[in-house]
Amino acid sequence: MKITVIGTGYVGLVTGTCFAEMGNQVYCVDIIEEKIQNLKNNIVDIYEPQLNELVKSNQEKGDLIFTTDIKFAIENSDLYFIAVGTPMAEDGSCNLEYVFNVAQNIGEYMNHDCYVITKSTVPVGTSHKIGKIIQKKLHERNKSFNFNLISNPEFLKEGTAVSDCLRPDRIVIGAENEESFEIMKQLYEHFIRNSYNYVFMNINSAEMTKYAANAMLATKISFMNELAGICDKTGVDINEVRKGIGTDQRIGFSFIYAGCGYGGSCFPKDVNALINIGKINNSPTEILEAVNSTNNNAKMYIPNKIFNHFGEDLTELTFGVWGLSFKPDTDDMREASSITIINSLLEKGAKIKVYDPKAMKNAKNIFKDEIEYCNNRFEVVDESDALILITEWKEFRNPNFEIIKNKLKNPIIFDGRNQFDKRYLNKMGFKYYQIGVDDC
Ligand code: NAD
Repeated sequence: MKITVIGTGYVGLVTGTCFAEMGNQVYCVDIIEEKIQNLKNNIVDIYEPQLNELVKSNQEKGDLIFTTDIKFAIENSDLYFIAVGTPMAEDGSCNLEYVFNVAQNIGEYMNHDCYVITKSTVPVGTSHKIGKIIQKKLHERNKSFNFNLISNPEFLKEGTAVSDCLRPDRIVIGAENEESFEIMKQLYEHFIRNSYNYVFMNINSAEMTKYAANAMLATKISFMNELAGICDKTGVDINEVRKGIGTDQRIGFSFIYAGCGYGGSCFPKDVNALINIGKINNSPTEILEAVNSTNNNAKMYIPNKIFNHFGEDLTELTFGVWGLSFKPDTDDMREASSITIINSLLEKGAKIKVYDPKAMKNAKNIFKDEIEYCNNRFEVVDESDALILITEWKEFRNPNFEIIKNKLKNPIIFDGRNQFDKRYLNKMGFKYYQIGVDDC
């Protein structure tokens, strides 16, 4: 098939590359010249396991073409995937300006019948608005082409995006006619072998499904984080509670780890967007609002434990931070808990030393010269007053605690992801703070 993917970020680049991997001819379009130039030279500006290799091999075999020329791409393909960002606007709603700009482009350059597929996460009704924009442009051009609107929300997870994309657990397709469902089945049958992994529905339902999935996952996390706050004060260990409830098949173990809050480019903005959709439609969103505020509280768990331990004047203190990305295996720092935690310590005068395996470049764009950037995890603890773990990268999971203890000024660890064995650390003489565990 001939496909154009518009927007070459985490979603567009990964899905475009995976479509090419299956033999389709794919144009990946972006408005950022530098990004496209880099990609043409096989330089991928985001970190995602396996992605570099696939970009290179698919460019070499000629199936993956990077361009800023959207007209050329549209004229030479039949399926247009919209995969541009839909960031949070100031009022919490979903900013659709990038999506609507692309709709204008499609209407301007379309020169044959085609499919317009929304992959970006968008509020209910957006695909139909896209259709109206395209139709208006065609009318202005005095042209008439048939185009089918499809909603095909993306469920890949940063950090495992390529494998999620190559082996999705489900493909949600919202469309209005059999022809659209069929073309999507033809495209995805190489990724999916079982027909029950397709979920067909109408366009509005598909748009809502994406928000529902993210809001449900965010709700699980916030529920556990709220519980963690109570555990902290009642001599309960949230880790034991998690095991106790996770074994219940109705609950399960996914997304019930207590921690210092969720971040990323999706959960925060999608929960907010859903709240906004509720408001517009005069429908209450009390649970979602609580999910949001609980998450904001969770991001302050670690700073509050630090203030309790050291007091609120941190001017003489240095904190070493392990992990900055919003989760392991990505360099993405959008809405990361590390930003809230570090900023609140900086506000109290603390010095901060950081290390992350992949997010250092993004961190430098955010914190500039306000903090010190280290080359490895042990440099971070050298002469620091305490270690803070924020992102549970594998290299932080089982470190040499002897070295850490010798390098730290005080043997204190604040663990935002409950990674370590409390009894072992206490035996070694560490003061070890976790989330949702009675401090000791
Ligand atoms: P991103 O910010 O990483 O990438 C968006 C890209 O679109 C940028 O490179 C930008 O330059 C480009 N762009 C903007 N306007 C353009 C235009 N007019 N023409 C061509 N390119 C343009 O965003 P992302 O994380 O890939 O997310 C894209 C969408 O997918 C969002 O709606 C997001 O909610 C959704 N989504 C993201 C994830 C994720 O894990 N990141 C997962 C599922 C769904």
